[in-house]
Amino acid sequence: MAVTKEMDITDAVLRHARENPPSTEVVKNRERVALAIRKYTKERLGLTLTSGQERALETFASREGVLLKLSHGAMIPHLGVFRLHVKAGEICSDTDNRMVSLYLIDDQYYYNWYPEITRLGFHLSGKPPSEQKSAITIPIPKEHKTKPLLDIPPPETKIFDRLENQIMGRFGPNLDHFLKEYGKSKGDVDKNLFKDGLRREMEILRTGAEVTHNYADFCARYQIGSFRRTNPDAADKVLFLSFWDFKDLFVDRFQTLFHKSEEVSRIKNEVEAAQENPDTTTTKEHKDDAPPLWFLCDCGRRNRGQRRGEEVSFTCRCGKTTTGHFGEVRFVPDITGTQSVSGSALGLSGRIVGSSLPYTQVADRMQKEIFDSEPATRFVLKSHPVYYGVGETREGDGRASLFRALCETKASVLGAALKSPWDVNPHVHSCYLEPQT
Ligand SMILES: [Zn+2]
Repeated sequence: MAVTKEMDITDAVLRHARENPPSTEVVKNRERVALAIRKYTKERLGLTLTSGQERALETFASREGVLLKLSHGAMIPHLGVFRLHVKAGEICSDTDNRMVSLYLIDDQYYYNWYPEITRLGFHLSGKPPSEQKSAITIPIPKEHKTKPLLDIPPPETKIFDRLENQIMGRFGPNLDHFLKEYGKSKGDVDKNLFKDGLRREMEILRTGAEVTHNYADFCARYQIGSFRRTNPDAADKVLFLSFWDFKDLFVDRFQTLFHKSEEVSRIKNEVEAAQENPDTTTTKEHKDDAPPLWFLCDCGRRNRGQRRGEEVSFTCRCGKTTTGHFGEVRFVPDITGTQSVSGSALGLSGRIVGSSLPYTQVADRMQKEIFDSEPATRFVLKSHPVYYGVGETREGDGRASLFRALCETKASVLGAALKSPWDVNPHVHSCYLEPQT
């Protein structure tokens, strides 16, 4: 049998786990995280763990469990991000219940970082949503745009009828575009297929808005529910946890990073000096008093704070100056803080990522030098799904949203396409291009 990339990844992850068995502290940490996962799923998402996830949770909390981790999740994702779940879950399900995957839902993210979280993703006569002045979006009131998604309420349920009508209103012009693009005639097309799909997905969003209490959970619930429909076997191997809850469980480790900001700055400066491009001279010096954390002002904005002994201080864009001891001011770690703590506290043996950026070397050195823990390999999933449907051009869309695809493609058909081999771009077709039984 030919060796696949997926098999290589499995071997590398199991080898890391063998060479770095979890300490007693790591197993205890996993047990605490397992309780948090259970609570998050039930109380914040209004969901029940599947029986497969219950088994995965037991594995997760045991010394024998091998962990893969991924993140990037508090949104109605495009298919490329969603596929990270699918491939991670698929790799785990091939290991006889030894490997599980933890997905941190990024509820600390801001709308401004990812305006896509409000875009439902419908093309208009070939024009992608990012180029449309009137892209169909879930409205977020202006006063919430400076806050983390955890602090933004879910959408009001009354907007969903309006959104459904708006999307249906686009179907006419899109259909004309589609018939021309593919040389089909009106008689070939049953409008009800789209109408029924849209209504079903909208109803799922509406229910999510009713049962969740913030925008991040609203998005996460849609994503997790969709995953269970498209790839039920893989979904059984992926456990979801709020990033904020994860951060609260490991405050002691973030406090260590706060106190060791000089060491973190030294690592950052050394890595950046080694990476410095001789064509540029813009490498900035990291200051010793800047911990790898962001501190939140009362207005919601995040700020890099200055450390003075036990205290942190910052002046926000809104004009307010905040000073307080560590623990008194809300904080979220930056990406290096997140990766070094998640890797060391949980004993990760692999990471599935969409890209590997220069900061990863900083995170790995922090994990090793500050927490004395061996970093896991990152496996970068570079192939990306392309969606073909009514409204898209004939070349398809490389950033179609999950919601958009599920309105026009059967969940099992989408799931099967997303399971394409590691290096192969999945091609996902609408029901108008490929009959789906
Ligand atoms: Zn502020």
